Amino acid sequence: MTVTAGFSRVSITPSAPGLPLGGWPTQRISTGVEADIDCRAIAISDGTDQVVVIVFDLLGLSSATVSRIQGGVSEASGVATNRIHVASTHTHTAPQVPPFITADGSTGEPAYIDTLLASASEAAVGALAAQLPVHLGVGEGSCDLGVNRRLPGPDGLVAKPPHANFDGPVDRRVKVARFDTEDGSPRGVVVSYGCHPTTAGESTLIGPDYVGVVRDLIEEEFPGSVAVFLLGYCGDVRSCHVTESGRFDWTFDPDRVRGAGEKVGRVAVRAALEISTAPHARLATGQSVTPIESTSGADLGVARVSFVGVGPWRLLLTPAELFSEVGQRIEGEIGDVMPATLTDGYLGYVAPEHAYDEGGYEVEESHIYFGFDSPVHRGSADRLVQAAVAASRGET
Ligand SMILES: [Zn+2]
Repeated sequence: MTVTAGFSRVSITPSAPGLPLGGWPTQRISTGVEADIDCRAIAISDGTDQVVVIVFDLLGLSSATVSRIQGGVSEASGVATNRIHVASTHTHTAPQVPPFITADGSTGEPAYIDTLLASASEAAVGALAAQLPVHLGVGEGSCDLGVNRRLPGPDGLVAKPPHANFDGPVDRRVKVARFDTEDGSPRGVVVSYGCHPTTAGESTLIGPDYVGVVRDLIEEEFPGSVAVFLLGYCGDVRSCHVTESGRFDWTFDPDRVRGAGEKVGRVAVRAALEISTAPHARLATGQSVTPIESTSGADLGVARVSFVGVGPWRLLLTPAELFSEVGQRIEGEIGDVMPATLTDGYLGYVAPEHAYDEGGYEVEESHIYFGFDSPVHRGSADRLVQAAVAASRGET
């Protein structure tokens, strides 16, 4: 049979202001809404295997919260828990959720976190009910919104606070997959790009950051479709908005958010328009788990790396903020994939070994804000690369 796919979206915008926001060291409280945040689901099946990918406009979700969501969605939908993937877009203007902790110890509002379970089930059931035979194809463009944020000084150490490193590694690819009905009308567009959604800076207004603009542009171009954004390799990459000294500019400017989204969105739309789609018969899946420890040896749980493939669409789901070089290493081993980082848990920044010697926020400080006793161990990148190889080979 032909592979079937369905898409849906459910709002997760809080009903009132006053919620703690995630993503910055100091606590911010929401004062309103700039744009809706939501939870979007893709359901895809070949008649034998069924996969659901749920993407939240949130900073990220802990493994424990992901397990709760998988359990609830499985109960509501009948889909096996290991075929339910839970990703985040990493917007820094959404309510605070575990594992993230701010300087005052806040881990978020439990009542809001509970609502996410119902939203995930509603989105998954909606996507499953919308499944139809699809033709799909993939495309790619290039965008320079992102810039490496680790600038080494004369001593070889990375500057703090972060400065733009225009010569540093960055993945400029905008990867796109388009799903059409058999009569050629687009039902879903999946886009992956690697740049921190931090363009709203110090805003206290809820929103999906540039990601929302990207999705809106795609849905305007393809009426009746649902656009899903997945985060690429951007542990060391943020948007290129800098002051004259090369420091990043954190001030909130809604026009900047809009401009950033248009930059990525226009590339995504162009790539999506150029795609030719075809039917495919088989869904390929693979999964591999690897233990991850902190630098001090504490057990941080397991990283689950999953692969989902349909024809030319090869999706790789990983639970960390991967540096762009780690992404390159993975694709050097397994070939071109569409990355979905911050999926199925949160394990902090996974960096190449040399980054530990250079220091900087990601490998020295960030762990404080997600409750680890120290950064992830320097061998973690190797383990994730190996897990990606195993998952792409269809191991389970
Ligand atoms: Zn991040």
